[in-house]
Amino acid sequence: MEKLKEKCSFCGRSKKETAILIAGLDAFICDACVSQAYQIVSEELAERKITDNKLEINLLKPMDIKAHLDEYVIGQDEAKRVLSVAVYNHYKRLTQKNLKKEMDDDTEIEKSNIILVGETGTGKTLLAKSISRVLNVPFCIADATVLTEAGYVGEDVESILARLLQAADYNVDAAQRGIVFIDEVDKIARKSDNPSITRDVSGEGVQQGLLKLLEGSVVNVPPQGGRKHPEQKMVAIDTKNILFICGGAFDGIDKKIARRVQSQTIGYTAYDSNDIVDKENLLKYITPQDLKSFGLIPELIGRLPVLSHLDPLDSSALKRILTEPKNALIKQYQKLFQIDNVSLSFDEKALDFIVSKAIEFKLGARGLRSICEGIMTDLMFELPSDSKTKEYVVSADYAKEKFDKLKLSHLKAA
Ligand code: ADP
Repeated sequence: MEKLKEKCSFCGRSKKETAILIAGLDAFICDACVSQAYQIVSEELAERKITDNKLEINLLKPMDIKAHLDEYVIGQDEAKRVLSVAVYNHYKRLTQKNLKKEMDDDTEIEKSNIILVGETGTGKTLLAKSISRVLNVPFCIADATVLTEAGYVGEDVESILARLLQAADYNVDAAQRGIVFIDEVDKIARKSDNPSITRDVSGEGVQQGLLKLLEGSVVNVPPQGGRKHPEQKMVAIDTKNILFICGGAFDGIDKKIARRVQSQTIGYTAYDSNDIVDKENLLKYITPQDLKSFGLIPELIGRLPVLSHLDPLDSSALKRILTEPKNALIKQYQKLFQIDNVSLSFDEKALDFIVSKAIEFKLGARGLRSICEGIMTDLMFELPSDSKTKEYVVSADYAKEKFDKLKLSHLKAA
């Protein structure tokens, strides 16, 4: 075969005329053409991203949002309804900006960040995550406990936005309409009897920092996260349209609610005397006032106008969680075994056993996974090499035997 002449197949420059000539299968490309091609590619991709940005957020009506949430989250109807409405209004507000011009209207809908109160493992994070999935917006989780005031060891509140930017694939526009879930906000509550004479590193100062994010401001974010340093290039992110969902267990808040509810029942402006107070689930009576007495600063509460609660999960809810959601644990195991051509099922009593252990260890739904893993490990080890077994039913006895062998002291400690 005739040897290819060594010249750029794109611009025709000979090898001598170029700094570098790269050989392909049956073509060459010179350095100049590479950089030109790179420029074209980046411009084209940037343009696509811009058009992507114009793509509508998957804005469903509140009822449809709730229906989607029902596929992933068991129970928690109240929280789902409140969230669906808040999220619908939030994203409607984003589209309202364009409408406003046409309607010649000055009414501006204010942003409604959300606060969810409920025991650990009841689905707060799952709700926030599922809602961002339904709407197709970037999502990130931040833990309020690792945040400190700027200048202290720990993470600055800006690092939360760095994470959102990463989740949005560094697309600033997408990040600016994303959802941030801030977990454990109860842990940054002001401690009124704080004996420390130094500054309260993890309390009010952090709340003030969060406030800045929640109210909507332009924040300079180090794109790679981490601490700021002078040489780092910053990206400006406007938090005006970012939806913040805060979550916390607020341990002990039920006592504050009980006290308030009781004193109100005595007073004549009280709850209707026919109203029987559900002492088992006082969280459903939660008001912003209770958050204040727990130690959140009023300014922060003011920026979290949508308040809802999650119900504790009882055994029937836990059992449903094991089997019903789209990615329920049991369905996941069945799929894993299916790949090895084994049809797996669980005896009802085995499910009851798993649930009873999750309740015993007070781990909420979070415990289901570790318990199941403990029970299933031996099977997952043995069955793939066992070509004879095509079907397996996990019985209560089997589950109990495997569970008893586990060293679950780490669960107890949790
Ligand atoms: P929280 O944020 O309230 O502490 P999570 O949302 O992180 O709890 O829940 C932990 C795990 O437990 C989730 O990943 C999910 O698998 C399961 N889970 C908790 N609550 C529910 C629920 N209501 N429906 C379905 N799964 C749940």
